Amino acid sequence: MTATSTPLAPAANAPAWQAPLAELGPAFYSRIEPQALKQPHWIARNTALARELGLDEQWLASQEALHGFAGCTVLPGSQPVASVYSGHQFGVWAGQLGDGRALIIGQLQTPQGPVEVQLKGAGRTPYSRMGDGRAVLRSSIREYLCSEAMHGLGIATTRALCLTGSPSAVLREEVETAAVVTRTAESFLRFGHFEHFSHGGRHDLLGQLADHVIERHYPDCQQAPNPYAALLEAVSRRTASLLAQWQAVGFCHGVMNTDNMSILGLTLDYGPFQFLDAFDPDHICNHSDSGGRYAFKRQPGVAHWNLLCLGQALMPLIKSEDAALQALQAYKGQFEADLTQALRGKLGLIDAQRSEDLALVDDLLQILARERVDHTIFWRRLCDFAQHSEPVHELFIDRSTFAAWAERYGSRCAGLDPQLQRGAMRQRNPRYVLRNHLGEQAIGAAKQGDFAPLHQLLRVLETPFEDHPQDAALAGFPPHWASSIEISCSS
Ligand code: AMP
Ligand code: MG
Repeated sequence: MTATSTPLAPAANAPAWQAPLAELGPAFYSRIEPQALKQPHWIARNTALARELGLDEQWLASQEALHGFAGCTVLPGSQPVASVYSGHQFGVWAGQLGDGRALIIGQLQTPQGPVEVQLKGAGRTPYSRMGDGRAVLRSSIREYLCSEAMHGLGIATTRALCLTGSPSAVLREEVETAAVVTRTAESFLRFGHFEHFSHGGRHDLLGQLADHVIERHYPDCQQAPNPYAALLEAVSRRTASLLAQWQAVGFCHGVMNTDNMSILGLTLDYGPFQFLDAFDPDHICNHSDSGGRYAFKRQPGVAHWNLLCLGQALMPLIKSEDAALQALQAYKGQFEADLTQALRGKLGLIDAQRSEDLALVDDLLQILARERVDHTIFWRRLCDFAQHSEPVHELFIDRSTFAAWAERYGSRCAGLDPQLQRGAMRQRNPRYVLRNHLGEQAIGAAKQGDFAPLHQLLRVLETPFEDHPQDAALAGFPPHWASSIEISCSS
């Protein structure tokens, strides 16, 4: 069943949709209508994001919005499109992929500039291949929660505007129910869009795409002697900054294929991601990733590999191999500088960097890895180390090794204002992250029709640096069963 597309008169407070990707033209997308889900219902609406986007909150709560965002009707003025891209999956060229279950329903003019709005799970598209175009409730809740958790942590991400559910059945390993996440981003363009037109020999379209991205998102590159090399460098830097943030907070993406890499350096496509419980650099969060290509410690290297693919795709425009290699070189320096800054911040080293800081950080990470210390709890407790050191010491079995490190740390902190330091650390070490078991609990309740745990979790994830004493249970150690949760690409 296709959505009703009878042109309705828009409600007075309805958003004014602009055609998405209109400047690029039809080679980049297919016009397509969503396929209706039955009896849609609201699960979540993000009023804070709605406000940022200039959307009317009453309209967002309306039946018109519910049906539009569940893909049951085409919202008045909206011209949905699915875009085409390709990509490398698990290191292998996969050819054409594309938005197999995503539809960009339009673009909104916001005070911050144009923002694209996309439905995920609204039915098949010309790029669905063998897929059904649907997304299940479980994975949609994970995407909604994690987008907002990342935003709360200050990490660049696509956002989640709302979540709708439906009793429509979807077959995965078992029969599940369908949901649609409405997500937003300044752009959903991926490395894979560039690979698609480059590998397909459509260098005219590749140039058009690169010019579009430069003009709209990286205008400073226009002044560079080689604007396309400058674009590659700018994307490399943003990607490096993103990866530094992921590594510092303990976020494992799980499927860093080039089609899941945002050209804007946003966290994109939430699948089998995980925030680390115990600090284990070798941790693999994607149950389908048997070789560990996307293990936590490999993420920075994989991002660089993905940038090489982007660089390769841009070669017909950059033309000079030297210029491309030089652009890519920016990645390593930017990543190391950002990661060091992030980790120094987590340690509360609020003064200028000193030569011993790198060793202090490295040695700590080695101790944490050896002892498999809970990542989030360690860092949060460290905020109060000057006043309450025992709760930190008790996280370690080999207490003397940690004590020796702590003595060095204490000397390094001499002269720093403990209150200022504590305040700064509490802004960098979240009390709450979206641990897998918390997501699972919210999903389990939602499957029974109880969305209260989801909303409770969402509230703390939106402001993860605050204490939220009434929700302290969500800041505890993971239960034993957490380590046996298996999250795969099935979504
Ligand atoms: P992912 O690994 O989720 O990023 O997806 C890789 C590719 O498979 C993308 O082109 C997706 O659009 C497509 N895809 C994933 N799941 C489905 C589905 N259920 N139906 C159609 N296409 C899908
Ligand atoms: Mg994807």
